[in-house]
Amino acid sequence: MAVLINRQDPRFEALKKGHNVRFPGDSSQAANRLLLCASPAEAEEALTAVVGAGLRPTVRSGGHCYEDFVANNPGGAILDLSLWNRVDREGGAYRVAPGAMLGEVYGNLYKRYGMTLPAGTCYGVGAGGHISGGGYGLLSRLHGLTSDWLTGVDILTVEANGRVVARHVDRRHDVGLFRALRGAGGGSFGVITDFHFAVLPQAPREVAEASLSFPWESLTEDQFTRLLASFGEYWATRGRDPDTWGLFVIFVVGPRSPNGRLSMYAQFCQPDGTATDQSVLHEFMDRFQEFQPSQKVAGKSSAAGETRPYTVSVRPWLDATIGGGASGDSIRAKYKSAYMKQTFVAAEAQAMYRFFSGGSRAAQSSVVSIDSYGGAINRPHLAAETAVAQRSSIMKLQWQCYWHDEAEDAEHLRGMDEFFTSVYTGSHVDAARQGTPWGDRYEGCYLNYPDCDMLRYPWWPQLFHGRGDLYPFLQQTKAQYDPNNIFHHAMSVRSA
Ligand SMILES: Cc1cc2nc3c(=O)[nH]c(=O)nc-3n(C[C@H](O)[C@H](O)[C@H](O)COP(=O)(O)OP(=O)(O)OC[C@H]3O[C@@H](n4cnc5c(N)ncnc54)[C@H](O)[C@@H]3O)c2cc1C
Repeated sequence: MAVLINRQDPRFEALKKGHNVRFPGDSSQAANRLLLCASPAEAEEALTAVVGAGLRPTVRSGGHCYEDFVANNPGGAILDLSLWNRVDREGGAYRVAPGAMLGEVYGNLYKRYGMTLPAGTCYGVGAGGHISGGGYGLLSRLHGLTSDWLTGVDILTVEANGRVVARHVDRRHDVGLFRALRGAGGGSFGVITDFHFAVLPQAPREVAEASLSFPWESLTEDQFTRLLASFGEYWATRGRDPDTWGLFVIFVVGPRSPNGRLSMYAQFCQPDGTATDQSVLHEFMDRFQEFQPSQKVAGKSSAAGETRPYTVSVRPWLDATIGGGASGDSIRAKYKSAYMKQTFVAAEAQAMYRFFSGGSRAAQSSVVSIDSYGGAINRPHLAAETAVAQRSSIMKLQWQCYWHDEAEDAEHLRGMDEFFTSVYTGSHVDAARQGTPWGDRYEGCYLNYPDCDMLRYPWWPQLFHGRGDLYPFLQQTKAQYDPNNIFHHAMSVRSA
């Protein structure tokens, strides 16, 4: 039987919230109870009881949701699957339980089988939300999205008469639902109780790592614009060649300040999982000489006489992947995202330069993380097989803003909203879709970085699910498998 935690329980305060402590908004927004489920059978029993009582269930695995989809559930019940976290192999397929944190997934798959998933960078993110929303990370240019590798999903759905049904869906059973679960996001169709993968990519033996940092304060707007354009240009051209797919780079742009630096982190391995030949990595790093980078070592620049402003170190892939530990402290946060099909235009770079040069509290608390993308993710057939429409992008941007004081919520939220809007306003964006990453240059936003500000645009489903037939398909699937809309949140799929 699931562990029941009600409002009187001393554990309630700690467990009612997820990683983003903005939610629940206040006590009246919080769920009335939590049900901690340590097996699919417990989840089925708990869901049956919750639905039978006429309560709204929200589902939680790792608790890293960016928006209020889980923790704001007035009077309802949170089904928490974090205790259901085993990772193993059965009947020839790998199984990952939704409550497993990515760090646990990596450790288990590596130690037991020498395999991995091309999933995200954060140890504490849960498989449940991450895999159902796509899930990408440092190996995704080489191996695609995590959900691309799915061959089966176990899920609890609720019939029109309220009966809970346990299904195993795959390419032969409930084919439409299986496709929807390959990237259309958690919280729309049911409670996922297991992910299955018939095959997985082999974990690399080692990776080469290198970092660059740029003197932010002394960069002019023109130099910054050229730096961003040069970064994007690589992914739009050379980065399309398969021999570069083992290269993944994260470029972080934050507030401009005296001694502030812009940092770029690159990780590379060959398709065979070795990093002996580093020519692709050097070719990339050497592009940026004109911007006078230095090696990113705290408080220290590269030594005089070094021919390169960076060093390359090689270490075991596992160390590089789970060395960083957990997700950092739980904090108040706001996120936004954009898929980019082409390099930056001057207007985008100028909007970023001006925002981060300003002294607003939002600017001081924010970063834009620019990730390389594409490679194996962009194999065209995947758009029709899965529920991730974005298969032409070369970069993915994530806006992040962090603060502690609830009294500053409105200021930070407004600051981020205005900043994002300014980047996507101008002739580089479709005239009828101003304020959003829409047009020839863009593929909208990432569902696993949900952003409720986008709900004010009638075209928000197309921003997150693409402009093709995916969203209508998802709506039909929703109507079929969740006819009473039991599983819903601000950005869940609406029934046809
Ligand atoms: C610090 C941090 C780092 C991140 N890094 C990356 C990254 O590198 N790459 C990347 O792609 N994303 C990344 N993300 C985003 C992450 O993938 C999403 O936030 C993801 O949805 C979190 O999953 P979760 O299970 O931890 O969250 P939860 O809050 O538990 O769930 C998120 C959503 O999925 C639903 N859900 C959860 N479990 C289930 C289930 N069992 N059945 C059905 N629905 C379910 C929830 O209802 C909710 O709608 C990061 C997020 C954070 C906070």
